[in-house]
Amino acid sequence: MEQNQDKLKDIISHSKEYGFIFPSSEIYDGLAATYDYGQLGSELKNNIKTYWWKAMVQIHENIVGIDAAIFMHPTTWKASGHVDAFNDPLIDNKDSKKRYRADVLLEEHIEKIRQKIEKEVEKGRNRFGDSFDDAQFRATNPNVVRNTDKISSIEERMKNALEANDLEGVRNLIIDLEIVCPISGSKNWTEVRQFNLMFSTELGSVAGDASTIYLRPETAQGIFVNFLNVQKSGRMKIPFGIAQIGKAFRNEIVARQFIFRMREFEQMEMQFFVRPGEEMKWYEYWKEARAKWHKNLGLGDQLYRFHDHIKLAHYANAACDIEYNFPMGFKELEGIHSRTDFDLKQHEQFSGKKLQFFDPELNQSYVPYVVETSVGLDRMFLAVLSAAFQNEKLEDGSERIVLKIPAALAPYKAAILPLIKKDGLPEKAREIQKLLQLDYNIQYDEKDAIGRRYRRQDAIGTPLSITVDHQTLEDNTVTIRDRDTMLQERVSVNELETKIANKASWKSILNDLIKN
Ligand code: ATP
Repeated sequence: MEQNQDKLKDIISHSKEYGFIFPSSEIYDGLAATYDYGQLGSELKNNIKTYWWKAMVQIHENIVGIDAAIFMHPTTWKASGHVDAFNDPLIDNKDSKKRYRADVLLEEHIEKIRQKIEKEVEKGRNRFGDSFDDAQFRATNPNVVRNTDKISSIEERMKNALEANDLEGVRNLIIDLEIVCPISGSKNWTEVRQFNLMFSTELGSVAGDASTIYLRPETAQGIFVNFLNVQKSGRMKIPFGIAQIGKAFRNEIVARQFIFRMREFEQMEMQFFVRPGEEMKWYEYWKEARAKWHKNLGLGDQLYRFHDHIKLAHYANAACDIEYNFPMGFKELEGIHSRTDFDLKQHEQFSGKKLQFFDPELNQSYVPYVVETSVGLDRMFLAVLSAAFQNEKLEDGSERIVLKIPAALAPYKAAILPLIKKDGLPEKAREIQKLLQLDYNIQYDEKDAIGRRYRRQDAIGTPLSITVDHQTLEDNTVTIRDRDTMLQERVSVNELETKIANKASWKSILNDLIKN
């Protein structure tokens, strides 16, 4: 754990040093939980978007993409339930004046009990050695049994109180469990209040309720309100999907852990419209397809797991998360939700317009059911970076920091490096750069010794380094060095395009997704 926290710190400082991510408005000491993507970060972010867009829109002929406005008619958020129910329960400690999410305080308390159980199990394992039976120990050891029962009863009370919106009950649970503020150490808690996560602002110059509009807290609603526009203008037949990438805003009470939880972030969402009754089939389909998309990056299959939701949102009849093993542990990366016909029906009711599809095969009109896939772009960025960031010990005893970013996502696909800054080598290198730069993002670097330049490319994740030397002028060959293996080979300049394509083109990474 300690080591992993260190890894997150290392990633944060590496990101800043090499221009991936900067704290926002840093010259004014930054703004909490807000970050800017730098010159390399925006390249990587764009490449993640492209990977998603191509995989979702380009290779599915029944999925199209839109780009809706961030501002929407305020009734949208009444209809979707966000004005009334998009809340987190918050509580303040009167001594430290610190604010917490009440549900998170309870979850952290449960996690502590869980850790006690694991310690007890560990002790047992050490005591009994080979004859240790994990399941039997957990079922019979009095301390473990007592703590397991404790967790069940807390979870039960918590779920009941949250589902009934019984804020007094949530507070009583915190008091009964004697939960203290980690800062002040006191149990001096305020009441629990619901805190709406939407940011609001005023439209035009007139203040007042009528002109209050919201920054969208999810991109999904921009898709729902355009359902008929897209279906009609695109002559779409069910089942079909509408995809969108865009900013979303949530006034998170506690925003921590770098770009994992921010108040302004980006989502890549797809709403798939299906026949009523067929939603579970498509829910399973999209669970599998999305897991495949993630694993296809080659970061390591063991880094992902599914987590089914216990408490379903008001609109869902099935929901799960794809969790990723971030440096802070397994946490939500993507949500897959069967949203039923809730959203379209609500919009029908609030707008008075029919949002239905005439199904020629069934000869019948209906409000489609929806399966949603929703992945956070910034969380994807953090996932890629955490797996890619490696501090390698080399055979000669030295170390190198290397970002093993999947080649197609890397900010630069190749670096062109003239061995020295004279004898016509820079001119030849520029010529090669021109040959490649219309297809791929290429970096040219002639400063410092070649070894240092290789290390710099490793540190920003460039998959291939192409070195131009005196022999190049004679026979039009160069050396090409692989970031991961550090092996070099001599190839003709004419082969470079194919070499880069095999390693880092969109085709190279998307090919496996279209195979069945
Ligand atoms: P959490 O439980 O972590 O608050 P959520 O369940 O509210 O997340 P969803 O509403 O399902 O999240 O949003 C879909 C995706 O958007 C999430 O899987 C996540 O990747 C991303 N996301 C949500 N909130 C944030 C945030 N504050 N910062 C960055 N990404 C976010």
